[in-house]
Amino acid sequence: MIPSDWNFCPRCASPLALSEHDGRLRPSCVACGFVYFADPKVTVALLIEQGGQVLLGRRGINPQQGLWSLPGGFVDYGERVRDAAAREAWEETGLTVQVGDLLGVWDFDDTIGEKKGIALFFRAEADEAEPVAGDDLVELGWFSRDALPPIAFPLHESILRGENKR
Ligand SMILES: [Zn+2]
Repeated sequence: MIPSDWNFCPRCASPLALSEHDGRLRPSCVACGFVYFADPKVTVALLIEQGGQVLLGRRGINPQQGLWSLPGGFVDYGERVRDAAAREAWEETGLTVQVGDLLGVWDFDDTIGEKKGIALFFRAEADEAEPVAGDDLVELGWFSRDALPPIAFPLHESILRGENKR
């Protein structure tokens, strides 16, 4: 089942109804033929390390408010993924980063209130500036991997523990 919080056609404002297109039931407009193809959300997250410690942020919003995650966020429409990673680093940590190697690509689901989507994890090098929490994060900290705080997302935790859970 494809989730949809749309009840009306964004093109002509007629009610949407489920009908089959490309093998699945999708919200569709009987009046104008519009079909809503739900797309996965694309996210980027950054592994920024200094002196054997990794930079984590405590989340100020749900899902998982109060728990810790790698800096990151959603890729905007038309935005290059590496630009999105650098932008999210700047918004959430105040750091100018050089986005480095791709660590991997993983799927995530909405078991804890996230949207279904695709997560890209990058290594990143930060400038020497002191990080300052912003956007979705309320606090930042450097942590060694054997003394991690409560991590918000299982996928982030597996990355931090060096597991390749795909
Ligand atoms: Zn329509």
